[in-house]
Amino acid sequence: MSRTINKCIYCGSTSDLRDEHILPYSLWGTEVLKKSSCRACEQVTTKFERHVARELLLPVRAYMGYRSRRKSKLPNSFDLDVTYKDGSKKTLNLPAKEHPALIVFPEYAVPRLLRDGKQQQGINITGTRLIGYGADLLALQQQYGFSSLTHTITFKATNFEKFLAKWAYCTAVNQYGLEAFSKVYVLDDILGKTDTIGSYIGNVEYGIIGKRAALAAFHIAEDDNRRVAVWLKLFANSDSPEYLVIVGELNAHHSLK
Ligand SMILES: [Zn+2]
Repeated sequence: MSRTINKCIYCGSTSDLRDEHILPYSLWGTEVLKKSSCRACEQVTTKFERHVARELLLPVRAYMGYRSRRKSKLPNSFDLDVTYKDGSKKTLNLPAKEHPALIVFPEYAVPRLLRDGKQQQGINITGTRLIGYGADLLALQQQYGFSSLTHTITFKATNFEKFLAKWAYCTAVNQYGLEAFSKVYVLDDILGKTDTIGSYIGNVEYGIIGKRAALAAFHIAEDDNRRVAVWLKLFANSDSPEYLVIVGELNAHHSLK
């Protein structure tokens, strides 16, 4: 299913509309909301999506084979900082296919709205989960003889939270249509006008998606208060965290199709 919106889903503008990928093209997204984002809003969403694709997910994108319109700028080898038993350190430069393709996923508390119904500023990162999608670490260790490795990332988590909020919002609009919503909680946070994202985004102890043979998976549901929740998981066949986004509220007469 591919909806045509004919209106910017972020600001309501009806001019200069573009198709919006629900999940970015570079992250294997295929579905689009047609004519659903104006140029100005597209620039905002592209910025944080590019940061996530570039800084957080680049090694795994390289390992799986890039899907990008600007392939020439992308690296095909990655550094791995290792330490040997005698304490000496070295930086190995490995081709993408021999690299462990590590990703550090941030983990959060349960969305504040579900805990006590309140709003909060920002979000607290309660932990991280390291997942390797590439070459087996133990095999690499044996091959190169190192005893430990250091993985450093330069990554702004706020961009990841906006990325999750936008993915969830687009998923919800695709499911219900834009006019179905009386209120969208995450809109101003996506656009960077507010930072209350911890109120609506978080992790929950129980997983609803589980493991699936998919690069990206979601589950959408509504509660008795007509609040729409979207569970999201990248690389769904791995132990990566599931994120929950409370997107907004539906009009009284709308229900799940
Ligand atoms: Zn707009």
